[in-house]
Amino acid sequence: MSPHDVVLIPGDGIGPEVTDAGLRVLEAAGAPLRFQVHHAGVTAIEQGLDVLPDSTVEAIKHCGVGLKGPCTTPVGEGFTSVNVQLRQKLNLFAAVRPVRNLEGITTRFDDVNLVIIRENTEGLYSGVENQVTPDVVMSMKVATQTACDRISRFGFRFATLRQRNKITVFHKANIMKLTDGLFLRCAQQVHQSEYPNIAYEEMIIDAGCMKIVQDPSQFDVLLLENLYGDVVSDLCAGLVGGLGVVPGANIGEDLAVFEAVHGSAPDIAGQGVANPLALIMSSVMMLNHLADTRNDPACRAAGDRIKTSYNRALADGCHTRDLGGDLDTSGFVAALLERLD
Ligand code: ATP
Repeated sequence: MSPHDVVLIPGDGIGPEVTDAGLRVLEAAGAPLRFQVHHAGVTAIEQGLDVLPDSTVEAIKHCGVGLKGPCTTPVGEGFTSVNVQLRQKLNLFAAVRPVRNLEGITTRFDDVNLVIIRENTEGLYSGVENQVTPDVVMSMKVATQTACDRISRFGFRFATLRQRNKITVFHKANIMKLTDGLFLRCAQQVHQSEYPNIAYEEMIIDAGCMKIVQDPSQFDVLLLENLYGDVVSDLCAGLVGGLGVVPGANIGEDLAVFEAVHGSAPDIAGQGVANPLALIMSSVMMLNHLADTRNDPACRAAGDRIKTSYNRALADGCHTRDLGGDLDTSGFVAALLERLD
């Protein structure tokens, strides 16, 4: 089988550092991939391109798969988030974020093994904002039956395929009766009519967050609309060591883009100290996705080798600074490569 073409978006801030680390690991593991570099974010603007160039979007449509570094989003002004735009333009409607304890990383909990499924295209991230008067502004929360139904079906199907037992929906339908009410109705409907064997529960999000930090082991698959999924992803990352260790996938009907949950971390950008593990773990998710969708066992084998090597490195105490260690980005990559079979 010929190598799979993958679009690589280095991104902004620590993006080029962590994607470069990921490429070194993928190459050393013999992953059958051929990368095409395309830009997005501030890096694209600096090169005289649009913040999300059409050529980048088209390249992902052509290749089917992308590996993406984080892109900076200006706070309170400036362009619309590239991450949000990309998910909307490519209809990458589901974010999948596995959160689990890793051997060697000690946290308050040792029994975290959950998956966040986040609706990626609407909710308060629809970008519909109005200035009504100079002193009054509005953001519109959008929920459509199509998107709520689609993410519910995705979540239950995911749970079934991955032998997970329970779906918990976090919501605020007591306040946002229409939008969150629709989300709940769709989830209930998919559960009752198609997946009655998967346990199903609903929690008001504030109480749900309290329960997560009391005892995360009670959760299995969390199904959330866009904003809740964004916030709860970082909360859950904190349970297992922080943003440096949580990978992610954005999945659509035919396309998928893999990226770490973390942002561009401008506070540490350019210093060579970022933890590349979340991006490396996202690369493993990408290899497994290619193995499943293109029936290529070489992708699974490369992913397994990378996973074994980072698990060994972590268990041996090879940690970057965010995890309390003293390795820089390249030091962690070297530790991982030493343990690659
Ligand atoms: P965004 O708004 O883009 O989602 P964010 O608010 O999640 O960004 P990040 O850029 O992810 O913020 O950074 C949050 C904190 O976590 C920062 O202090 C940053 O340095 C740290 N951090 C994030 N990712 C990493 C990483 N890979 N390695 C080390 N530290 C990281």
